[in-house]
Amino acid sequence: MSDLTADAVATERPGAGNPAAPGGGRTVAAAVPAALVARLASGVTAAGDPDLVETVAPLTGERLAGLPQSTPADVEVAFQLARRAQSAWAALPVRRRAAVLLRFHDLLLRRQDEVLDLIQAETGKARLHAFEEVLAVAMAARHYGRAAHTYLKDKRRGGALPVLTHTVEARRPKGVIGHISPWNYPLELSVGDALPAFAAGNAVVNKPDTQTALTALWARELLVEAGLPADLWQVVIGDGPVIGPAVVEHADYVSFTGSTRTGRDVAQRAAARLVGASLELGGKNAMLVLSDADLDAAAAGAVRACFSSAGQLCISIERLLVHRSVADEFLERFAARTRALRLGGGLAYGADMGSLVSVRQLETTTRHVEEAVKAGAVVVAGGRARPDLGPFFFEPTILDGVTPEMAVCAEETFGPVVSVYRFDTDEEAVAAANSTPYGLNSSVWTGDRRRGRAVAARLRTGTVNVNEAYAAAYGSVGSPMGGMGDSGLGRRHGAEGILRFTEAQTIATQRLMPIAPSFGLDDKQFAAVMTGGLRALKALRLR
Ligand code: NAD
Repeated sequence: MSDLTADAVATERPGAGNPAAPGGGRTVAAAVPAALVARLASGVTAAGDPDLVETVAPLTGERLAGLPQSTPADVEVAFQLARRAQSAWAALPVRRRAAVLLRFHDLLLRRQDEVLDLIQAETGKARLHAFEEVLAVAMAARHYGRAAHTYLKDKRRGGALPVLTHTVEARRPKGVIGHISPWNYPLELSVGDALPAFAAGNAVVNKPDTQTALTALWARELLVEAGLPADLWQVVIGDGPVIGPAVVEHADYVSFTGSTRTGRDVAQRAAARLVGASLELGGKNAMLVLSDADLDAAAAGAVRACFSSAGQLCISIERLLVHRSVADEFLERFAARTRALRLGGGLAYGADMGSLVSVRQLETTTRHVEEAVKAGAVVVAGGRARPDLGPFFFEPTILDGVTPEMAVCAEETFGPVVSVYRFDTDEEAVAAANSTPYGLNSSVWTGDRRRGRAVAARLRTGTVNVNEAYAAAYGSVGSPMGGMGDSGLGRRHGAEGILRFTEAQTIATQRLMPIAPSFGLDDKQFAAVMTGGLRALKALRLR
């Protein structure tokens, strides 16, 4: 990375929204009434008289829900129920299963306001960012609803002996998927990732984060309304280190989204049982602004890239690499846009950024900024918590002059904080972007799309967006999305996103002659005939 000049830019406060009306006219309690919580909570697999755990609405700090806690024994029951439902589901034609996804798509779009309230109440994010989840889930539902049949149908393959061996590659469901999801995108990462698993004929036992379980339970209800057999999707809730391993213990395949640290633990447990796992983990994503970029578009893109869901987005940008020749001008425009952001907690569209989800996220964000400033970094915009708006609000923050010994330089903050670095050549920018063990997402801004794609090809990340922040690649649901290196294993979306939930089965039917000495040939003669046959197959360019 080239020099890390700390151009002093006056700190200004981003806009305050309207702290007096955290509910945008409606309170969280009115949007998520006790009767709704009780109805949704009845969808949790938890026997007897379970312990309740309380969740808090991040926007205001008020009590949100008391949710039943599943025990490891409940997890076992959940797998039994799911397993029983799975065999009948798997026996249905793919198109019948996929039709449920298409009906779910329509129901979701029609009833989106219900879930937007829940997502906002549970995460504290702005409504626009909650809507991005609806968008992502609807796209996945449409894609797998329409394309599952093509992905899953039997495929004719070349046989051992042309004409004489008829070979088919078939796809069988894994069985019951253990699906563990985090709090940051509770709709997308609970139901969005489960949809292809269902389309492929599996059942799912889902452990959402307790903080955002209501959203997952709402999605479950809606999918059942769309035609999913109720037992096919079990929801268990509980302490991650207790219930998470229990889910892995019974699963035929594990789909995990969360931190790299937990992902390693999940991977080891799955490996010990010889079951597969896909792991969607953390990132320290970079955005590159090349010398020929449209600076206004890049500045607007950087705001989306860095501050969507208050930076609690695995693919959000925490490192901004800008060509030195345009750095000052870019930074001025980016900072102006950042300072103009309206923070707020209304359960309505209008705010540009909401709250962080918890005191833990607030503490990490605050620590990263305060330590960096103490060590010489300069706050270009934001930089402070905003308890006047809500208990976990933190301003969208731009840091300049960040150096490698500061935690914010290499560690995932998972908050609304981005550091700006300058570079002189594309080579230098690529090397800086790749100088992290993570490899999830990146973004390249340039006036020359071919140059953008050439730079993209050299970046070690699972997705690269050219002239967009993250939504272009994430929304391309026909193409795989996931991480390289410490950002994970496996992919969601596209063929990989559904085939991971299947076992490949090759069925080869032999006719007329065996693949062994026959018709009076001795071993030596058989070997000679086969040797001639192999030469002929290569000469005929057969694969
Ligand atoms: P986390 O790893 O703490 O928790 C994720 C889930 O795992 C939760 O449901 C949690 O209860 C559960 N869990 C905790 N301990 C467990 C254990 N020992 N065994 C099994 N499950 C356990 O992560 P988080 O803080 O909730 O989420 C934020 C992280 O997730 C960030 O690092 C972010 O980058 C990452 N993330 C990645 C993607 C992606 O697609 N790559 C998407 C969203 C979030």
